Amino acid sequence: MASFSHLVVLDFEATCDEREPPDPQEIIELPSVLLDGATLEVLDEFETFVRPVHHPTLTSFCTALTSITQADVDAAPPFPAALEAHLAWLRSHGLPTEGDALPWAFVTCGDWDLRTMLPAQLATAGFDHVPAPHRRWINVKVPFRRWDGKMRRAGMARMLEALGLELEGRHHRGIDDCRNIAKIVRALVARHQPMEITAELPASRYPPLPLVLEREGERAEIVLGKRALPSLLGAASGAFRAQATRAFHGDGPLDDAGLRELRSGALVRVE
Ligand code: AMP
Ligand code: MG
Ligand code: MG
Repeated sequence: MASFSHLVVLDFEATCDEREPPDPQEIIELPSVLLDGATLEVLDEFETFVRPVHHPTLTSFCTALTSITQADVDAAPPFPAALEAHLAWLRSHGLPTEGDALPWAFVTCGDWDLRTMLPAQLATAGFDHVPAPHRRWINVKVPFRRWDGKMRRAGMARMLEALGLELEGRHHRGIDDCRNIAKIVRALVARHQPMEITAELPASRYPPLPLVLEREGERAEIVLGKRALPSLLGAASGAFRAQATRAFHGDGPLDDAGLRELRSGALVRVE
């Protein structure tokens, strides 16, 4: 597998409390460190706070954990504008943000950021799609465990320690976490651990998708929960009380990849 032109370390911070996080949990910091894929040199950093709209007041626990203050988030853009600014920053460095087979990839510490937090935030903010770059990623814990060879739990602090690295800055502050994760990436590559995709967003984690179905001139509206053809055909069979075996959008047949690109209100013909 060819290596990536760039690696983009990403680490969300989110609203939280001592026990359960607020529901819905929302992103409050969106930071990245951009690495050259060949040299792993730091090319740039991006940071924005994000203003939570459902639970706008941070708990004292959250501020103590992350060092992010109420004033930080009060002055920040809401999630859609923050995400757009992040994508624009990526494009300003020549990184494409649309299409499959992107030449670069996100690196995270664990699967929570892109498997759990981002899908939840997208659904909460009413998105009908997941940006292409956020659909697969490198969880640095996977190459770490491959190098480490032990089954020990690999938190960021444990990984740094095992690799003989200092934890710099403030743990649980997104931009500092990104800088530390970048150091882990460099240390693992120096130990001959390749950075390859370790996880893909499951079809069930895309935001709910309202669709208009059409069969033999009849129409029905559904909300598709999982971007997979069998789910669509199942919903269509139920809506029309007739077995649907094929789906079409525009002038072509629809497959799982096509379903991931569909937008809210799209017309899908079934037969
Ligand atoms: P991290 O990247 O490890 O700083 O964690 C990301 C987010 O997970 C934080 O912004 C919190 O919302 C949540 N989180 C992390 N650690 C804790 C903890 N010990 N207790 C409650 N929430 C946490
Ligand atoms: Mg994290
Ligand atoms: Mg963090």
